[in-house]
Amino acid sequence: MASGNKLSLSSRILIAMVTGGICGWLLSLAGNPEWSQVWLIDGVFKVVGQVFISLLKMLVVPLVFVSLVCGSSSLSDPKMLGRVGGKTVGLYLVTTGIAVTLALTAAILFQPGVGATPVAAVQQEIAEVTPLTQVIIDMIPSNPVAAMADARMLPIIFFSLLLGISITLSGATGKRVAAWFHDMNGVIMKLVTLVMRFAPYGVFALIAILAATSNASDFLAVGRYVVLVFGVLFIHALVVYPTLLALLCRISPWMFLFKMRAAMLFAFSTASSNATLPVTLESVEQRVGVSNKVASFTIPLGATINMDGTAIMQGVATGFIAQFYGIELSVAQYLMVVLMVIMASIGTAGVPSVGLVLLAGVLAQVGLPEEGIALILGVDRLLDMTRTVVNVTGDSTVTTIVARSEGELDLEVFRDLEAGREFEGQSVKAG
Ligand code: ASP
Repeated sequence: MASGNKLSLSSRILIAMVTGGICGWLLSLAGNPEWSQVWLIDGVFKVVGQVFISLLKMLVVPLVFVSLVCGSSSLSDPKMLGRVGGKTVGLYLVTTGIAVTLALTAAILFQPGVGATPVAAVQQEIAEVTPLTQVIIDMIPSNPVAAMADARMLPIIFFSLLLGISITLSGATGKRVAAWFHDMNGVIMKLVTLVMRFAPYGVFALIAILAATSNASDFLAVGRYVVLVFGVLFIHALVVYPTLLALLCRISPWMFLFKMRAAMLFAFSTASSNATLPVTLESVEQRVGVSNKVASFTIPLGATINMDGTAIMQGVATGFIAQFYGIELSVAQYLMVVLMVIMASIGTAGVPSVGLVLLAGVLAQVGLPEEGIALILGVDRLLDMTRTVVNVTGDSTVTTIVARSEGELDLEVFRDLEAGREFEGQSVKAG
């Protein structure tokens, strides 16, 4: 996919992934000698990988704030905000409901937990699921600066929306402030493009660490669980979302997936919907053609409250753990799992491994042993990366559906293969 003298960013990331995987695998074949552990895994690779993740995270708060103020200050019709919000939250809940139902059905049909061998227990952290009442209270920032300092997404979204609306209501003064935010938005997008140039190196390092430190025998021990989670994740991403896009938007789902590939690759390498946010937002706006008005609101919201991939893992894991301990769950308990998983995905941030930590809360709620988490902890990393891809794809799918229903999807941009290529680094000529 070379064009001119440059490979596109996604191609460079793919190459980095494959070479990183091979490099890590060779190191693990060599038995991870001490020099590689010290100098590469805990040295260069760790530094490059962490620097890359920090660079992405560095963009999240300013990007969400500025982009959302821009989006909400350009809403000509304030009622649109309520409509968009309602449709978005509704669709997020429905898709997460479908995800966890699919996962539980698969777990009941394929019985992955019967006769499974546990992997070595790893120390687990148990977290409480934040109750919905608290999520609502926490949504209003008593101090917006503190919310930004802690990167708490829901209060930032709330504050930015109100600020944007006040700008619209402030007449001539508001127009001047809005113009500043629009300029700033352009500047931050440039910053995203700059950071993306570093992505292939970061991805190489992260994947090399993963390949060098993963243990194949762990995967075999809970193989059926791993295969089932992968299977349901693929069905959700390649059947459920495409069907929704084709039915509700009447657009080609394959073109959509093709245009979202940079965000998907980022999600896979970082295992964090939050860290991927800048790339998701840019892809949805510039490649897919969703307006900033819709995307600036729905994408950050989705990164926080919509986690279909995580719901799938939790559904399969609950079935797996129940079967492993020989505990029969009643229909009411299954329904409880569905509800708990939906709540859990609302109340958590999209950061690595959070889904696993929350699983403890779900298990406790239906009376399953929390120690069951130790069974699957060892294999969670690869699953975490894959379910983050589904989380990000879900946010983008719902965003596109909502935008289409509001007349905020530019079909010309969507159909143009080249649209938005420059943000993927295409127009950055060598030298
Ligand atoms: N890593 C996932 C995300 O950021 C959350 C999880 O399932 O752990 O979307």
